[in-house]
Amino acid sequence: MLYKEVKEKKMKSNCIECDGGIEVSDDVLKGEIVTCSECGQDLEISSLNGGSITFVKAEVEGEDWGE
Ligand SMILES: [Zn+2]
Repeated sequence: MLYKEVKEKKMKSNCIECDGGIEVSDDVLKGEIVTCSECGQDLEISSLNGGSITFVKAEVEGEDWGE
């Protein structure tokens, strides 16, 4: 019996806050926000480089910065 191969790949990286493992779908885009399931930190993808992801802390949520 053949199993359908899952095409979607996951990239693995680590949280910059708690160093917990984070899996990100490989079709993410730079600038997307992912949330660490370990510590809840929102992380923005600052660069994607051949499957290696660099995160920065995302400043989201709440505070109205005013316009
Ligand atoms: Zn974390």
